[in-house]
Amino acid sequence: MAVQGLDALLVTPGADLRYLSGYHAKPLERLTCLVVPADADAVLVVPALERAAAEAAGVEVDLRTWGETDDPYALVSDVVPASATVAVDNQMWAERVLALQQRFDDVRLAGPIVSELRMRKTPEEVDALREAGAAIDRVHARMGEWLRPGRTEREVGADVARAIVEEGHEQVDFVIVGSGPNGASPHHEVSDRVIEVGDPVVVDIGGTTPAGYCSDSTRNYLAGGAAPAEYLAAYEVLEEAQRVQREHARPGVTAESVDAVGRQVIADAGLGDLFIHRTGHGIGQETHEEPYIVDGNDLVLEPGMAFSIEPGVYHEGRFGARIEDIAVCTEDGLEVLNRRPRGLVVL
Ligand code: ZN
Ligand code: ZN
Repeated sequence: MAVQGLDALLVTPGADLRYLSGYHAKPLERLTCLVVPADADAVLVVPALERAAAEAAGVEVDLRTWGETDDPYALVSDVVPASATVAVDNQMWAERVLALQQRFDDVRLAGPIVSELRMRKTPEEVDALREAGAAIDRVHARMGEWLRPGRTEREVGADVARAIVEEGHEQVDFVIVGSGPNGASPHHEVSDRVIEVGDPVVVDIGGTTPAGYCSDSTRNYLAGGAAPAEYLAAYEVLEEAQRVQREHARPGVTAESVDAVGRQVIADAGLGDLFIHRTGHGIGQETHEEPYIVDGNDLVLEPGMAFSIEPGVYHEGRFGARIEDIAVCTEDGLEVLNRRPRGLVVL
């Protein structure tokens, strides 16, 4: 903050607040705001009725409570003078940003500061991501219990969601069951489409563990029968691209180079137009956070950075495939946190 000329950081409920204070506060209408001055101790402004919840979360800063008819922004102003340059968390509600802009001369985004911290995982955070990865792997391992011809994507998705919790997550973040042509839409969720014999199915699933860390892994299944030859050829290329990316990613290489080496494999096979998204995203207390593994991001990877490697190929109206692992940079290489076989799983 000092280097960037900031006098204070203002953080309302969300992933940044949980990361900085451990307080997983509900995003409600009454103002809760962590105030972190550059040169003084932090305080947490909190509604009186939520004081107990903040204390129960083990927040280790002074709490300043406000009553139902008080002006909570006045409490923020008590800590930080109006002339201050303040930074607000990137996900703060607009009504709060506007209220703070009324009170402070210079209001900026805190994103660049907080993400500098969040994208380098501590060993404890890596442990938590490893546990999340193992938990989602256990769900993929059970896919044969639910995924079969004659069932709808929605029915399969409901079973998968239950298993995400059973296998060690506190919360289901998303369930994508993309069968046949639906696999060509990367962010398809579920539909009432009945899975047919010979359908390739993209299953991309994730949740948040009780420790607050996210999982995210994609595997591809064949619901009996035989997949189209064109699909199988594309799948082989995809597996090779993802393998090349896993072997390339390590401290000292850029984020964009991880994208480039996989994209090259897919382009060399004549399928470049089918890889329509970036290679990956950072992951931690949020499923998508920095660093983004994308062309144009010349960030040099460092030990502790965790991200997905998830190339995909999407043939509109016909099929899609994506292979996704979460990986973390070690001191001199890469630890891949998802261990399930990456080949097409025939059920
Ligand atoms: Zn992902
Ligand atoms: Zn995913």
